[in-house]
Amino acid sequence: MEVMGVSRSDDSALRERIVASILKTGFNGSGVGIWGAEVCQRCGELGTYWALAGAMVSHAGGEFACRGCRNNQGRHVARDQAHCYCECCQKRVERKDALSVARRWLCDRCGAELSSQFDEEQLNTHLSRLARRRYLELKPSLDDLRRHGLTQAEQRLALDEIHAEGEERRDLESRWEERWLEALAELSEIHGVRYRLDNNGTTVHKD
Ligand SMILES: [Zn+2]
Ligand SMILES: [Zn+2]
Repeated sequence: MEVMGVSRSDDSALRERIVASILKTGFNGSGVGIWGAEVCQRCGELGTYWALAGAMVSHAGGEFACRGCRNNQGRHVARDQAHCYCECCQKRVERKDALSVARRWLCDRCGAELSSQFDEEQLNTHLSRLARRRYLELKPSLDDLRRHGLTQAEQRLALDEIHAEGEERRDLESRWEERWLEALAELSEIHGVRYRLDNNGTTVHKD
Protein backbone atom coordinates (compact mmCIF):
# COMPACT_ATOMS: atom_id res chain seq x y z
CA MET A 1 0.00 0.00 0.00
CA GLU A 2 2.77 2.34 0.92
CA VAL A 3 4.53 1.80 -2.39
CA MET A 4 1.31 2.48 -4.29
CA GLY A 5 0.84 5.68 -2.33
CA VAL A 6 4.33 6.83 -3.23
CA SER A 7 4.00 6.04 -6.91
CA ARG A 8 0.62 7.78 -7.07
CA SER A 9 1.99 10.96 -5.57
CA ASP A 10 4.96 10.85 -7.97
CA ASP A 11 2.48 10.49 -10.77
CA SER A 12 0.45 13.50 -9.66
CA ALA A 13 3.58 15.65 -9.34
CA LEU A 14 4.56 14.67 -12.90
CA ARG A 15 1.03 15.38 -14.13
CA GLU A 16 1.05 18.81 -12.53
CA ARG A 17 4.44 19.57 -14.09
CA ILE A 18 3.13 18.69 -17.58
CA VAL A 19 -0.12 20.62 -17.04
CA ALA A 20 1.79 23.74 -15.90
CA SER A 21 4.12 23.55 -18.90
CA ILE A 22 1.17 23.28 -21.32
CA LEU A 23 -0.64 26.24 -19.76
CA LYS A 24 2.54 28.30 -20.10
CA THR A 25 2.75 27.85 -23.90
CA GLY A 26 0.02 30.41 -24.66
CA PHE A 27 0.22 34.19 -24.77
CA ASN A 28 -2.10 34.56 -21.79
CA GLY A 29 -0.79 31.65 -19.77
CA SER A 30 -3.45 29.21 -20.88
CA GLY A 31 -2.12 27.15 -23.78
CA VAL A 32 -2.47 27.42 -27.55
CA GLY A 33 -5.58 26.85 -29.67
CA ILE A 34 -9.21 26.15 -28.80
CA TRP A 35 -10.02 23.51 -26.16
CA GLY A 36 -11.45 23.40 -22.68
CA ALA A 37 -13.76 21.76 -20.16
CA GLU A 38 -16.81 23.56 -18.78
CA VAL A 39 -19.80 22.81 -16.60
CA CYS A 40 -22.75 21.58 -18.67
CA GLN A 41 -25.75 23.82 -18.03
CA ARG A 42 -28.14 20.90 -18.51
CA CYS A 43 -26.66 18.21 -16.26
CA GLY A 44 -24.05 20.07 -14.18
CA GLU A 45 -21.24 17.67 -15.12
CA LEU A 46 -17.95 18.66 -16.74
CA GLY A 47 -17.75 18.23 -20.51
CA THR A 48 -14.95 18.94 -22.97
CA TYR A 49 -14.66 20.61 -26.36
CA TRP A 50 -11.90 20.67 -28.91
CA ALA A 51 -11.19 22.99 -31.90
CA LEU A 52 -13.40 25.73 -33.28
CA ALA A 53 -16.17 23.45 -34.56
CA GLY A 54 -16.34 21.67 -31.19
CA ALA A 55 -16.48 24.93 -29.27
CA MET A 56 -19.21 26.28 -31.56
CA VAL A 57 -21.45 23.22 -31.42
CA SER A 58 -21.14 22.86 -27.63
CA HIS A 59 -21.94 26.55 -27.06
CA ALA A 60 -24.59 26.76 -29.78
CA GLY A 61 -27.31 27.75 -27.32
CA GLY A 62 -25.12 30.49 -25.81
CA GLU A 63 -24.17 28.30 -22.83
CA PHE A 64 -22.12 25.14 -22.66
CA ALA A 65 -23.87 21.78 -23.10
CA CYS A 66 -21.94 18.49 -22.90
CA ARG A 67 -22.05 15.92 -25.71
CA GLY A 68 -24.35 13.54 -23.84
CA CYS A 69 -26.94 16.23 -23.20
CA ARG A 70 -26.74 17.52 -26.76
CA ASN A 71 -27.43 14.02 -28.04
CA ASN A 72 -30.24 13.34 -25.60
CA GLN A 73 -32.01 16.65 -25.42
CA GLY A 74 -31.10 18.59 -28.53
CA ARG A 75 -28.18 20.92 -28.70
CA HIS A 76 -29.51 24.04 -27.01
CA VAL A 77 -29.76 24.74 -23.32
CA ALA A 78 -33.36 25.72 -22.69
CA ARG A 79 -33.35 29.47 -22.21
CA ASP A 80 -36.33 29.25 -19.90
CA GLN A 81 -34.60 26.75 -17.62
CA ALA A 82 -34.90 28.35 -14.18
CA HIS A 83 -31.71 26.87 -12.78
CA CYS A 84 -28.07 26.84 -13.80
CA TYR A 85 -24.83 25.31 -12.51
CA CYS A 86 -21.92 27.12 -10.88
CA GLU A 87 -18.81 27.08 -13.10
CA CYS A 88 -16.61 26.65 -10.01
CA CYS A 89 -18.31 24.29 -7.54
CA GLN A 90 -20.92 22.87 -9.98
CA LYS A 91 -23.71 23.53 -7.48
CA ARG A 92 -27.22 23.82 -8.94
CA VAL A 93 -28.62 27.30 -8.32
CA GLU A 94 -31.54 29.43 -9.45
CA ARG A 95 -30.56 31.71 -12.33
CA LYS A 96 -32.10 34.70 -10.59
CA ASP A 97 -29.68 34.22 -7.66
CA ALA A 98 -26.58 33.46 -9.75
CA LEU A 99 -23.88 35.80 -11.01
CA SER A 100 -23.52 35.77 -14.81
CA VAL A 101 -19.97 36.11 -16.17
CA ALA A 102 -19.77 36.12 -19.98
CA ARG A 103 -22.30 33.28 -20.47
CA ARG A 104 -21.08 31.34 -17.45
CA TRP A 105 -22.68 31.24 -14.00
CA LEU A 106 -21.42 31.43 -10.44
CA CYS A 107 -23.28 30.55 -7.25
CA ASP A 108 -23.59 33.04 -4.37
CA ARG A 109 -20.58 31.79 -2.51
CA CYS A 110 -18.17 31.40 -5.45
CA GLY A 111 -19.41 34.66 -6.99
CA ALA A 112 -18.76 36.61 -3.77
CA GLU A 113 -15.39 34.99 -3.20
CA LEU A 114 -14.09 35.56 -6.73
CA SER A 115 -15.57 39.07 -7.08
CA SER A 116 -13.56 40.11 -4.04
CA GLN A 117 -10.35 38.98 -5.80
CA PHE A 118 -10.97 39.95 -9.44
CA ASP A 119 -12.65 42.66 -11.50
CA GLU A 120 -15.02 41.47 -14.25
CA GLU A 121 -12.38 41.05 -16.95
CA GLN A 122 -10.00 39.21 -14.62
CA LEU A 123 -12.85 37.00 -13.49
CA ASN A 124 -13.57 36.05 -17.09
CA THR A 125 -9.87 35.24 -17.63
CA HIS A 126 -9.83 33.22 -14.41
CA LEU A 127 -12.77 31.10 -15.61
CA SER A 128 -11.16 30.60 -19.03
CA ARG A 129 -7.99 29.35 -17.34
CA LEU A 130 -10.05 27.07 -15.13
CA ALA A 131 -11.60 25.58 -18.31
CA ARG A 132 -8.12 24.92 -19.71
CA ARG A 133 -6.80 23.37 -16.52
CA ARG A 134 -9.86 21.14 -16.13
CA TYR A 135 -9.52 19.88 -19.70
CA LEU A 136 -5.95 18.80 -18.96
CA GLU A 137 -6.87 17.27 -15.61
CA LEU A 138 -9.51 15.15 -17.35
CA LYS A 139 -6.92 13.52 -19.62
CA PRO A 140 -7.19 9.85 -18.60
CA SER A 141 -3.52 8.87 -18.86
CA LEU A 142 -0.09 10.44 -18.65
CA ASP A 143 0.48 9.56 -22.30
CA ASP A 144 -2.69 11.43 -23.33
CA LEU A 145 -1.38 14.43 -21.45
CA ARG A 146 2.06 14.05 -23.03
CA ARG A 147 0.55 13.88 -26.52
CA HIS A 148 -1.38 17.06 -25.83
CA GLY A 149 1.86 18.70 -24.63
CA LEU A 150 3.65 17.72 -27.84
CA THR A 151 0.85 19.11 -30.02
CA GLN A 152 0.87 22.35 -28.04
CA ALA A 153 4.63 22.74 -28.38
CA GLU A 154 4.44 22.17 -32.14
CA GLN A 155 1.63 24.70 -32.49
CA ARG A 156 3.61 27.15 -30.39
CA LEU A 157 6.56 26.92 -32.83
CA ALA A 158 4.23 27.39 -35.80
CA LEU A 159 2.61 30.41 -34.15
CA ASP A 160 6.01 31.99 -33.53
CA GLU A 161 6.57 31.82 -37.31
CA ILE A 162 3.14 33.25 -38.08
CA HIS A 163 3.75 36.21 -35.77
CA ALA A 164 7.23 36.93 -37.13
CA GLU A 165 7.82 38.95 -40.30
CA GLY A 166 10.29 39.12 -43.19
CA GLU A 167 13.82 38.04 -42.38
CA GLU A 168 12.93 36.84 -38.89
CA ARG A 169 10.19 34.57 -40.23
CA ARG A 170 12.47 33.10 -42.90
CA ASP A 171 15.08 32.47 -40.23
CA LEU A 172 12.56 30.67 -37.99
CA GLU A 173 11.27 28.63 -40.95
CA SER A 174 14.76 27.55 -41.98
CA ARG A 175 15.54 26.41 -38.43
CA TRP A 176 12.33 24.41 -37.90
CA GLU A 177 14.04 21.10 -37.18
CA GLU A 178 16.59 22.67 -34.86
CA ARG A 179 13.83 24.49 -32.94
CA TRP A 180 11.71 21.34 -32.78
CA LEU A 181 14.65 19.33 -31.42
CA GLU A 182 15.26 22.01 -28.80
CA ALA A 183 11.60 21.90 -27.79
CA LEU A 184 11.66 18.09 -27.64
CA ALA A 185 14.73 18.14 -25.40
CA GLU A 186 12.95 20.51 -23.05
CA LEU A 187 9.75 18.44 -23.16
CA SER A 188 11.71 15.25 -22.45
CA GLU A 189 12.81 16.78 -19.16
CA ILE A 190 9.33 17.95 -18.23
CA HIS A 191 7.49 14.81 -19.41
CA GLY A 192 9.91 12.36 -17.79
CA VAL A 193 10.55 10.45 -21.06
CA ARG A 194 13.02 10.79 -23.91
CA TYR A 195 11.67 12.08 -27.22
CA ARG A 196 13.55 11.77 -30.49
CA LEU A 197 12.76 12.46 -34.12
CA ASP A 198 12.82 9.63 -36.65
CA ASN A 199 15.14 9.79 -39.65
CA ASN A 200 12.88 11.87 -41.85
CA GLY A 201 12.55 14.40 -39.03
CA THR A 202 8.77 14.28 -38.78
CA THR A 203 7.64 11.61 -36.33
CA VAL A 204 8.32 11.85 -32.63
CA HIS A 205 9.26 8.63 -30.85
CA LYS A 206 9.20 8.11 -27.15
CA ASP A 207 11.95 5.98 -25.57
ZN1 LIG B 1 -24.65 17.57 -19.75
ZN1 LIG C 1 -20.12 27.79 -6.64
